[in-house]
Amino acid sequence: MPKVCLLSDGTFKLDGGAMHGVVPKALWEKQNQPDEKNRILLAVNSLLIEYEKEKILIEPGIGSGHSEKFASLYAIDKKRAILSDLNKLGISPEEITMVVPTHLHFDHAGGVADWRTGELLFPNARHIIQEKEWEAAMNPHPKNQASYLPEFLEPLKKAKLEMIDGEKEIVPGVKLVLTGGHTHGHQAVFIETQDKVLAFPGDLIPTRAHVNPLWVMAYDVDPEKSIKMKRWLIENGTKEAWTFVLVHEPVEPVGKIKLENNKYSFNSDRSGFLLCDI
Ligand SMILES: [Zn+2]
Repeated sequence: MPKVCLLSDGTFKLDGGAMHGVVPKALWEKQNQPDEKNRILLAVNSLLIEYEKEKILIEPGIGSGHSEKFASLYAIDKKRAILSDLNKLGISPEEITMVVPTHLHFDHAGGVADWRTGELLFPNARHIIQEKEWEAAMNPHPKNQASYLPEFLEPLKKAKLEMIDGEKEIVPGVKLVLTGGHTHGHQAVFIETQDKVLAFPGDLIPTRAHVNPLWVMAYDVDPEKSIKMKRWLIENGTKEAWTFVLVHEPVEPVGKIKLENNKYSFNSDRSGFLLCDI
């Protein structure tokens, strides 16, 4: 059975309006309070999965070595960092065997390299990326060019890359599923044991406020696909009591989704799935 640990790469901020798409501010600000620049606080949560000799990092995070201007624009706060979390677990970056970003936006894949030096941070790892996502990152549409940045994509070209197209079981019980929606090559991660499922839906459900299938980000390239995939994730996850880990939820990212009075809500709950914490 895979062992799963929750890691953190700190926090940052994005515009609250962009994070909630067409949802009126009067509704979203109750759940995600904006600062004076209308930005909301977001965590960068990651998972470490250990299975036999494999050490798999799901979401390498926002990274390090950003310029001062970039760090202040996004209010990047690295009081936690994946590399120090790994260090606390006694794991060196060289020991990571697989790196799996859900997609190649900077807040998910920025951590593959040090932005200052261009050095890959997990030099021995296979980096597993959906083909469609690689194409989108190499020829970005102007709509999301600001999220696909050369500071980490250039070094990534030198990494051990493994392109996949669609669904793939990377070790027994750990499955990657192409969802599209947020980006054309966005993938979700599922960890399945005998009777339990842990879902890591990436930017399809970034915070607890986003458990409403219609609350999709303005960043999404295919919002109709996002809604369809979110509906599938939320309905099945509720029925089968999946444990969800939400990538940008800053308060408590681990929980289950409940349906009460026709409304879905996210409830913190770590029972039923072993998540080592740091
Ligand atoms: Zn994101």
